[in-house]
Amino acid sequence: MTRTVQKFGGTSVADPECIQNAATRVQAALANGERVAVVVSAMAGHTNQLVDWVETLGGPLADRAEHDVVVAAGEQITSGLLALALRNRGVPARSLQGWQIAVRTDNTHGAARINSIDTEAIGRVLDAGKVAVVPGFQGLGPDGRVTTLGRGGSDTSAVALAAALAAARCDIFTDVAGVYTTDPRIVPRARKLQSVTYEEMLEMASLGAKVLQTRSVALAMQYNVPVQVLSSFDDEPGTMVVADERMMEHQTVAGITYNRDEAKVTLVGVRDQPGVAASVFGPLAEAKVNVDMIVQSVSPDGRTTDVTFTVAATDLSRAKEIIEPHARDLGCQRIDADGGVVKISVIGVGMRSHAGVAHRMFQVLGERGINIQAISTSEIKISVLVPEEYTELALRTLHTAYGLDAE
Ligand code: ADP
Ligand code: ASP
Ligand code: MG
Repeated sequence: MTRTVQKFGGTSVADPECIQNAATRVQAALANGERVAVVVSAMAGHTNQLVDWVETLGGPLADRAEHDVVVAAGEQITSGLLALALRNRGVPARSLQGWQIAVRTDNTHGAARINSIDTEAIGRVLDAGKVAVVPGFQGLGPDGRVTTLGRGGSDTSAVALAAALAAARCDIFTDVAGVYTTDPRIVPRARKLQSVTYEEMLEMASLGAKVLQTRSVALAMQYNVPVQVLSSFDDEPGTMVVADERMMEHQTVAGITYNRDEAKVTLVGVRDQPGVAASVFGPLAEAKVNVDMIVQSVSPDGRTTDVTFTVAATDLSRAKEIIEPHARDLGCQRIDADGGVVKISVIGVGMRSHAGVAHRMFQVLGERGINIQAISTSEIKISVLVPEEYTELALRTLHTAYGLDAE
């Protein structure tokens, strides 16, 4: 019999009524002759509440293993509740916690990576005709302790489980009807995509479209798991995330994303000499601070230059601290830090065969008086850094300019 994985996000299990709705979706798949493993998130808002409590009682440097014990609990609750709702309807079902399956991860508490999933216990449950309800987001570390996969990690749990079970499909039920050309909550004219390639979805997720966690898309691509993103609140078909060769024609631009979790650092007036970049970025890399965009301006006098780069907003103060002594050695006059920036990206595999996408982007942003502070590109995306207050204007303008607006 066909196995499928259904994943319900936080808003789809936000209260008992939503959990009943999820149970109805599970029953529909069963009626279709499928064996169903369900992955659930914590009720909307619960993970934030748990993180708050951890910080209140454990401080900003709270022990990461205990942090995971607490924040993994939200998913445990919903797994039990959905199993109860199903059983109450006469549907055989049971919950299986991450450690009972087991979902084995590395030891990076708070951002653990899945190494393997044992399929024996869960396979037995499914083969017995029962629904297995699995809490997403949680795993079992090498030392036998509970781990969590990072925010939004239930998507990754679901895709990993689908791959391990060789499921025919992984349905990601959420609070929007699929993957849109851009965040429909910011651009009301965003259009739902019928399908999107793994590659495009991977870029969109990593550049800010939080509808799927980036690692879930990487896993889906690696194991060729057909993923569907759809609403748990209506019956419309969602967006299929598929391999490239299954898509006949590509839009030049498939999607536009924004990421506010960016901060800009500028080293003003450093000596313009060989080795500068190495002495700035070496120490940051050693401290595991990820640097994203980099701009080195042309030296006006041949002696000094400005180096600008971006890091995750949460890394800003650490990055400044690490860079300060090195910057002084390079004769840096001043370090400017700016958290009020946003990275806007346009993405599409069609860019490979179409010129002029970048030019259009710069042109329309310029016409709107939006100043670009940094640019980075790859084969299938262009990103620009602009002041945060222009987020909506930039998204809407680009969305129209690339012909993506819904009728
Ligand atoms: P869940 O709780 O179901 O995991 P998330 O909040 O993590 O849901 O992800 C869904 C949200 O992602 C939507 O409410 C939407 O605001 C946001 N989003 C951002 N970019 C996109 C996009 N391109 N398409 C669809 N949703 C998007
Ligand atoms: N509950 C976790 C979070 O809010 C994981 C998830 O929902 O995917 O990040
Ligand atoms: Mg999510």
